[in-house]
Amino acid sequence: RPTTLPALLRDAAERFGEHPAYVDGATVTSYAELLVRVETAAAAYVARGLEPGRAVAVWAPNSTEWAVAALAVTYAGGVLVPLNSRYTAHEVADVLTRTDAAIAVVADGFLGRTQIADLAGLGTTTQLVDLADLADDGTTPDHLAEARQRADAATPDDVADVLFTSGTTGRSKGAMSAHRQTIGVAQAWAELGGVRAEDRYLVVNPFFHSFGYKIGIVVGLLTGATLFPVATFDVDQTMRTIQDQRITLLPGAPTIYQSLLAAPSRSDVDLSSLRLAVTGAAVVPVVLIERMRAASPDGLGIDQVVTAFGMTEAVVVTMCREGDSAETVATTNGRAIPGMEIRIDGAASPTDEGELLVRGEHVMLGYLDDPEATAAAIDADGWLHTGDVGTLDEAGNLRITDRLKDMYISGGFNVYPAEVEQVLLRLDGVDDVAVVGSPDERLGEVGTAYVVGSATAQDVVAFARQRLANFKVPRHVTHVDALPRNLSGKVLKTQLRSS
Ligand code: ATP
Ligand code: MG
Repeated sequence: RPTTLPALLRDAAERFGEHPAYVDGATVTSYAELLVRVETAAAAYVARGLEPGRAVAVWAPNSTEWAVAALAVTYAGGVLVPLNSRYTAHEVADVLTRTDAAIAVVADGFLGRTQIADLAGLGTTTQLVDLADLADDGTTPDHLAEARQRADAATPDDVADVLFTSGTTGRSKGAMSAHRQTIGVAQAWAELGGVRAEDRYLVVNPFFHSFGYKIGIVVGLLTGATLFPVATFDVDQTMRTIQDQRITLLPGAPTIYQSLLAAPSRSDVDLSSLRLAVTGAAVVPVVLIERMRAASPDGLGIDQVVTAFGMTEAVVVTMCREGDSAETVATTNGRAIPGMEIRIDGAASPTDEGELLVRGEHVMLGYLDDPEATAAAIDADGWLHTGDVGTLDEAGNLRITDRLKDMYISGGFNVYPAEVEQVLLRLDGVDDVAVVGSPDERLGEVGTAYVVGSATAQDVVAFARQRLANFKVPRHVTHVDALPRNLSGKVLKTQLRSS
């Protein structure tokens, strides 16, 4: 396979031609048309003065236009910087400044003119371009020729993209990847999932995240699968699309499948086309995996349900394989994917608990403009310190316990909130829960459980006491209407701690 994104796009146009690449509402775009549209947009970047190696940001919800704008960046010799669609204008301005972005492509109506004007006033030198203007931007044949030359000149080791981490534990960091890496990890994932041109892939994961961009758009270019971009998740709409479009691939956060299973209208739709779901989170209940696999009407009838572990700095690290039991899928994230090695830091035996270290070809080049943070994350032997705690079983399956940063120490004992949360979720009247450590004079730290649901504080504490060692039992219970979550479904514990 080609090892630069422009070469891969041309290869896809040639191999898959008239086969649909994107189905976005009523608009179908073939792989051949995709190349034409990307070339037009790349020429538009050149016409606007983009120089090779400069960053171009894309800020829009999932759509065909997002893919076109993003693929055109590397085609025109630039570096792609996807922006989180939930960013405020200040966060956008921060990333534009940090990446010194030459251009920011923004969806019209997505944020409104005033906010964009505010953004321009925040001191960035970035040109703002309307996403719709990329299609026809008064470019000349010279601009197009220049874009094509830059596409030819791309090399596998050039930086292709800078993806910002979710900012769950602090300020987001920009992870840089080379063309060969962005393609390599997508290739590994596509092979493990057996993805083919006949696949119809509903992309609920945001394109701005590695799982939407690399494991979505780039997987499409490699395999010829047809992508169905989802701008905002709606349960009923999603079920209709799965049925009417015979969707086969549905990767996503566990909450997606939970809401499908809970939808009253589910028995009216036929979801039997689904063949592969890939999910992952610290807490995936075994019953969820079982119900995802179980035939309708009890379940979703998905042939293959697997979990994976990933992070922006390494995209996909481990994944379950076809045939793994529901227990393995729910309680582990599978084994290292081809090209990656994993080990547990300081573990005398592999089954000991410790920080997960990752090494291999998919590990990022480093954090943008931050050699200190890069050196702190990737050691001299090339091991990326993930900040996650876990164990490996005999078969090499990774079990994530929790984030190092979420762990707290109560009376000298380590407490992993994920373990406590898993227990509390089994109590009737606890619909959702997050546990964080809070300062305590006597014990150093104690747990506070943020609970969504009708269970009383006494119920929660009594239930925990029966099932957990005393130091793990939350001392405080606070009721909330909902937990603050980011788009990938992760609870923002920093927000809870400061609330
Ligand atoms: P930041 O690094 O800015 O604090 P973040 O780590 O949440 O944010 P991402 O790169 O989007 O940003 O997420 C990677 C993290 O998500 C992992 O380090 C891990 O904590 C968590 N994660 C991903 N997959 C799994 C999984 N299968 N099980 C448990 N946790 C997971
Ligand atoms: Mg992280």
